[in-house]
Amino acid sequence: MTTPLKTQRAHDVIVIGSGAGGGQAAYVAAMAGAKVLMLEAGRNYDPVRETPMFHTPFQAPLRAAGTPDKPLGFYDSTVNGGWEVPGEPFTNASTDPKRQFTWWRARMLGGRTNHWGRISLRNGPYDFKPYSRDGLGIDWPIGYDDLAPYYDKVEMLVGIFGTNESMENTPNSPPGVLLPPPKARAGELLAQHRAKALGIPIVPIHRAVLTRRQDADTIPAKLHPGNAKAQRILAKAMRERAACFWATECGRGCSIKANYQSPTVHLPPALATGNLDIVTNAMVREIIVDQSGKATGVSYVDTATGKEHTVQARVIMLAASAAESVRILLNSKSSRFPNGLANSTGLVGKNLMDTVGAGLGGQIPLLENLPLHNEDGAGGDHVYAPWWLYKEQHAGKLDFPRGYHIEFATGRRMPGLGAAQGLDQFTGGSYGKAFKADARRYFGSRVSFAGRGEMIPNDDCFCEIDPTVKDKWGIPVLRFHWKWSDYELRQVAHQQKTFAEIIDAMGGKIRETPAADPSNAIRAGGNVKHEVGGAIMGSDKNKSVTNAFAQTWEVKNLFLTDGAPFCSNADKNPTLTIMALAWRTTEYALEEMRRGNV
Ligand SMILES: Cc1cc2nc3c(=O)[nH]c(=O)nc-3n(C[C@H](O)[C@H](O)[C@H](O)COP(=O)(O)OP(=O)(O)OC[C@H]3O[C@@H](n4cnc5c(N)ncnc54)[C@H](O)[C@@H]3O)c2cc1C
Ligand code: SF4
Repeated sequence: MTTPLKTQRAHDVIVIGSGAGGGQAAYVAAMAGAKVLMLEAGRNYDPVRETPMFHTPFQAPLRAAGTPDKPLGFYDSTVNGGWEVPGEPFTNASTDPKRQFTWWRARMLGGRTNHWGRISLRNGPYDFKPYSRDGLGIDWPIGYDDLAPYYDKVEMLVGIFGTNESMENTPNSPPGVLLPPPKARAGELLAQHRAKALGIPIVPIHRAVLTRRQDADTIPAKLHPGNAKAQRILAKAMRERAACFWATECGRGCSIKANYQSPTVHLPPALATGNLDIVTNAMVREIIVDQSGKATGVSYVDTATGKEHTVQARVIMLAASAAESVRILLNSKSSRFPNGLANSTGLVGKNLMDTVGAGLGGQIPLLENLPLHNEDGAGGDHVYAPWWLYKEQHAGKLDFPRGYHIEFATGRRMPGLGAAQGLDQFTGGSYGKAFKADARRYFGSRVSFAGRGEMIPNDDCFCEIDPTVKDKWGIPVLRFHWKWSDYELRQVAHQQKTFAEIIDAMGGKIRETPAADPSNAIRAGGNVKHEVGGAIMGSDKNKSVTNAFAQTWEVKNLFLTDGAPFCSNADKNPTLTIMALAWRTTEYALEEMRRGNV
């Protein structure tokens, strides 16, 4: 897939990073006819050739269990990266275990879109105006209506299953945009039925997995009106994607392109235009500016040779993932920008956010000894509970300000190492044939619930350049500061109480008592891997890093197309919004180029 740099003489746009934000930006620009150069720090990766999706646990060391260098399992698609990247450290300012930021990075073509859970939820109208609603956090300079057409486009392009439920702040998609959802699993149906009595709605989740083939006859014209070449290329790319057959783990990647990964969905049509060059093993060090303050290009290290290179373009799109983009901005120092690029306000690195996460598990006797059946399905749950207490919260009946949705794990999926772990608390210590019978009885009867909630940006959560530590390329690394506030801790206490109630309503028993101190239950900063912010957008250039089109106030031809411009981090998982914003930003940048403004 990687094309040699020499294939194009000059580029209009450089895109840094090839994940959700970079993939989307490169797709839009290349399909519109711009010459694009993508720089990706990791290696080339082609899921179609490389995914071990059909391998069984028996074929791998330790029955494919996770290890420190492959924390999500031997077959996980993150071929390079994880919680630690060798030779590329980051630091935490505090030694307090409760003030640590953890950071999952994927150094490979497609970044974290190769593994991600593919939960794809739209932000709702409230999510763009949080300050106006409750006086906390920061309003976005755009509203839901600004982004809705781009959510429609992304959903049609990548293929999202789900249903329209017309729930508060949980937007519907236009008719015909979503693909039909898969059936709920047995445990999911039970939870849905029993949670109803508690007033908790459980509905089909939205996930970037094709439940049927895409409509290649009509979607391309909707996405690229008046652009026959783009329509032809997209129709062909869509026909090369098959529908899911519900039997393998999405986190390993998908060779039939049924789920969304940037290297199977965004990059092939963009490459087919002939307008995109991708250079992998290209670790960007800094963005270069001229005396007038315009970005002229990018300098990067070829990680295979260690050599430095410089490339030029009219426009730079930064999509290295929110915190990495902050790092590149802060490391791009010059006499004109001594504090880093676009940072004369000192706001780059500030307003860093993650998702509030906590979980609770239980065992459900009603799910014991179910008849044998395959519940593999799409990676992750087929249903979820959107936040359901907007009215109560707004009326001041809750002791925390923002909501969470509930994801959960149930079911009889392909057992791996540890499938029978911890069963002795139910079996009373059986062994031999009796244990085998017990393992069959209890397999699939355990459930676990996870909250995914909104945090409020605060002054204790930010990142900056570490004054001494550098990575193996000599590039200064990030130092994180983190502290959950009482808002998030009180939300986590509510999450755990709710999960215990659902498990009880399902006739089950919780596995462990919810933590008395929620700071022991909340996952560390960054641990949900939804970090966004760090270079927020706004309408006042003294209070934000970019304008409403993610164009930096100080460098007109520099745009951010990852999660860095987010002003809030709604409970909705961020990637669909990253892609919708990236599409909008790229369209705007191309129009500004056409008009000669950048
Ligand atoms: C296990 C897991 C599950 C997840 N589940 C979900 C989910 O269900 N729903 C959801 O919405 N989100 C989920 N996420 C989060 C999701 O993966 C991210 O929000 C999304 O990938 C962000 O896209 P991005 O383009 O900003 O960054 P990335 O996908 O991280 O891509 C950034 C790319 O930039 C490259 N890069 C970094 N620095 C440089 C540099 N200096 N020079 C050149 N290239 C560079 C990286 O190598 C990488 O390829 C999950 C993440 C993980 C890890
Ligand atoms: S479950 Fe479906 S989408 Fe996921 S990897 Fe398997 S075939 Fe692909």
